[in-house]
Amino acid sequence: MDKTEKELRQDIVEVGRLVYQKGWVAANDGNISIRLDQERILCTPTGVSKGMMHVDDLIICDMQGNKILGRKERTSEIMMHLTVYGIRPDVRSVVHAHPPVATGFATAGRPLTQALLPEVIIGLGCVPLADYGLPGTPELTEPMLPYIPKYDAILMGNHGAVCYGDDVFRAFFRMETVEHYARIALVAELLGGARVLPKIEVDKLFDSRTRYGVKARAGAEPGCPVVAEDLNGGGERFEVTREELIALVDEALRARGVT
Ligand SMILES: [Zn+2]
Repeated sequence: MDKTEKELRQDIVEVGRLVYQKGWVAANDGNISIRLDQERILCTPTGVSKGMMHVDDLIICDMQGNKILGRKERTSEIMMHLTVYGIRPDVRSVVHAHPPVATGFATAGRPLTQALLPEVIIGLGCVPLADYGLPGTPELTEPMLPYIPKYDAILMGNHGAVCYGDDVFRAFFRMETVEHYARIALVAELLGGARVLPKIEVDKLFDSRTRYGVKARAGAEPGCPVVAEDLNGGGERFEVTREELIALVDEALRARGVT
């Protein structure tokens, strides 16, 4: 059964508290929204800490981003939420935050696209990076447009991340997966570099989605995720023993009449 507006308001307040407690936003950063129906979006206001909101702080906007109910002011980033809702009829909630490790990758110009962790590949495929765009303007959403139809989590260059799903907790958990993945990728890099999974393993993980009941958008695409073969210049890796290698070199030299 669908939740009431009152319950959805409580859900946003709860997710806001979690986002703040996890350190994914500072001060009044971030925003959360839920699609109430075809015409209305329930969303967090601007100028309020997402960790300390009251259900009455939330505002309701129409699909053009005009406020239709609420005392507080709307966030300029509402247009990004509306862009996602416009492209993805399946999306009921959008969460935007600045989780520090994922945002670090976004700021370094590094997408989170390497095939490293089974849960990430199954749940998200990969997390592409959209170029920087000035917040509160169409420049912010423009670079995200190619990714929104295919992916449920996107890094935003020099800014943060946005995740969405069929309810606000799903969107929140996706943000949690993105930040967790970024932390692990960073630690692997500090320890000498991650070992990227080969295509055959990535294909098996995509195939296992039905077994886990995962409804994810992203299928395997060239470069998303990046598999081991992509990093080896596209060539297939194989191993030879020392003796086999010597024999191959000898044979090549003989063929050229060197020995
Ligand atoms: Zn932001």
